[in-house]
Amino acid sequence: MKHVIVTQDLPADVLQATAARFQVSQISLKALGPEAFLKQIGEPDALIVSPGDPVNAALIAELPESVRVISSYSVGLDHVDLAAAEARGITVTNTPDVLTDATADVALLLILGALRGAAEAFRMISEDRWTGWQPAQVFGRDVTGKRLGIYGAGRIGLATVKRAQAFGMPVHYWSGRSRSADFDAIGAEPVSDMDAFLSRCDVLSLHCPSTPTTRGLVNAALIEKLPPRAVLINTGRGDLVVDGDVIAALKSCRLGAVGLDVFNGEPDIDPRYRTLSNAFVLPHIGSATEETRLAMGKVLLANLHDALSGT
Ligand code: NAP
Repeated sequence: MKHVIVTQDLPADVLQATAARFQVSQISLKALGPEAFLKQIGEPDALIVSPGDPVNAALIAELPESVRVISSYSVGLDHVDLAAAEARGITVTNTPDVLTDATADVALLLILGALRGAAEAFRMISEDRWTGWQPAQVFGRDVTGKRLGIYGAGRIGLATVKRAQAFGMPVHYWSGRSRSADFDAIGAEPVSDMDAFLSRCDVLSLHCPSTPTTRGLVNAALIEKLPPRAVLINTGRGDLVVDGDVIAALKSCRLGAVGLDVFNGEPDIDPRYRTLSNAFVLPHIGSATEETRLAMGKVLLANLHDALSGT
């Protein structure tokens, strides 16, 4: 039986299915740190990792020769140094497609929550400050008619477009990198000039991966190019935004609101996001449904099986 290290608590059903096919050891990379982790893993055939596990070049360089596969329980692979893995001949796999709908649902949840002032409305109840219906209480803004700009014209971006259109949002996407026939086919308008793209974003939604090019994308200079009181949505990765610039813009109301599912330094998020009335924030739950996490488990196991067969 091939030996697999699992670095985080997988859902019970996924862990059970993994244990039925592989010899499983649960050893936490995050809790132990790389040195102790490497001492404890022995000579496994594969690692199952998740976002937040720092599978960097230093760790990969020290992995035993036996490791042939690093299988991530996620679509994003920014936590894995892909070049270092390739240099060692280690296959890296992820779980795309099956989490597209669930994550797009959360993008819509964030758009609705940010525009409608859900953070402040929720606190009014939870902090027992509600004095009853009033004509001018928790003013949100209409979703219908707000222009949505998608940055990152891939699977989750596309599923977000379909949902937003059902809410009456005209959609455009940044096509400066590549034009998408799928986006064009459903009436999302391509805009190749970045400044023109940004100037139309009543709502800007980030759906690109975290890469050296996209890290720090949303900074003060970019925010200045958005319409006044624009809304920023992020289900991509926390490091796509510069927190200090976003928070300053929220405080001055240059940004109307944010809806964030992902953060720099998760789970140690910038504490100001917890209290700003115009920040609607969720703890990285994009793919967190029972059905989706099980489906991700199936893809994970199929990936492992394929990558390890014949080794
Ligand atoms: P995808 O289908 O690969 O879409 C990503 C899109 O971003 C692609 O169209 C890609 O274009 C584009 N892109 C890449 N680099 C770019 C750049 N520098 N500027 C503009 N666009 C760029 O991936 P997906 O399945 O939609 O997932 C997108 C991201 O969502 C993941 O990488 C992950 O970080 C995040 N995610 C978050 C959650 C959550 O729980 N919040 C869940 C799932 C995924 P090319 O095809 O031309 O490279």
